[in-house]
Amino acid sequence: MITEEQVLNSLRTIQDPDLHQDIVTLGFIQNLTIDGGRVSFTINLTTPACPVREQFKRAATDAVKTIAGVTDVAIQMTATVRGTGRAPEQTALPGVKHIIAIASGKGGVGKSTLASNLACALQQTGATVGLLDADIYGPSQPKMLGTLNPPLSTTEDNQIIPWNQYGIKMMSMGFIVDDTTPVIWRGPMVHNILTQFVRQVAWGALDYLLIDLPPGTGDAQLTITQTVPLTGAVIVTTPQEVSIQIACKGLRMFSEVHVPVLGMVENMSYFLCGHCNERSPIFRHGGTRKACELHGVPFLGEVPIDATVTLDGDEGKPTVLAHPDSASAASYRAIAGQLAAQLSILTARSATGTEQPATSGCCGGH
Ligand code: ADP
Repeated sequence: MITEEQVLNSLRTIQDPDLHQDIVTLGFIQNLTIDGGRVSFTINLTTPACPVREQFKRAATDAVKTIAGVTDVAIQMTATVRGTGRAPEQTALPGVKHIIAIASGKGGVGKSTLASNLACALQQTGATVGLLDADIYGPSQPKMLGTLNPPLSTTEDNQIIPWNQYGIKMMSMGFIVDDTTPVIWRGPMVHNILTQFVRQVAWGALDYLLIDLPPGTGDAQLTITQTVPLTGAVIVTTPQEVSIQIACKGLRMFSEVHVPVLGMVENMSYFLCGHCNERSPIFRHGGTRKACELHGVPFLGEVPIDATVTLDGDEGKPTVLAHPDSASAASYRAIAGQLAAQLSILTARSATGTEQPATSGCCGGH
């Protein structure tokens, strides 16, 4: 006769290396049933984008199979994204569990491309995702997500209903002004429109709302940090020293306004030859990882220079959707996993009062 205690004890041997507790103590095990030699249960992770969910499943199967009499182990993998636990009155968007700014020091480093691919990669894992294009001076998400003039409508209480593209709820300045008109707005107007985009859009329930910030460290970035309770920010850079230096300015800005930096991403990290698979570090490679080590922030990953990425962006279908088997798509998915993992770590830590994420780690692996 197999007991619940035996099963739970075997599962207690599986540690989450980053949350530093076992998966039973973390409350991941649910719906445990034992029927003769058949043991079934659910492992409910903190994010569907967990990069090691299959490892967890294998380890749990192996652990339970060591119990005498077990003939069959059936595990259902699920996830519930936990929010930061802020009181509802502290957040402008109570249905949104995590709001993440995607930022860069410089323009043209691939921030918007990363934001659209991360949104799609997270959505593909089963998470509910929104994307706010706050790059009001150069909104590129409508083009990158292939939705130039969607017919927007409003709710009964006059909130704008975000446009749903590829399963992502999105809102962009590009939906409001046509893409040939330059937007010449001063600080207070920038503040007003961004505030409206956050508060007067019916975002509803979301696991992750990504905000594609304009490049730099000016008014618009500060407005966002003051208007919405950001869980954290991701900083995108290219490998050139000048780009990394400017990205580090962004690090300092977020630190000054007490927004945790969830990590940095190196875009256009290297060129991967389509013929011989050789990697060429065209713009130097690896500087971002070093900068992360220096500043004690997580390095979330790197994306190669890839003509397909450019074409997919121009054609309105992010690479993770248009070319899911490409090396670039795999990079974006890996970065999405690391980002989701950092959010899980941060959420766990916010309960204990130390909010800066670790320099490595995830919801159970790295
Ligand atoms: P930003 O938002 O930082 O201004 P974008 O995301 O608009 O930058 O990217 C600028 C240009 O570079 C776009 O044409 C985009 O398609 C291209 N791009 C971005 N990342 C890559 C990459 N990894 N490989 C090739 N082209 C890229």
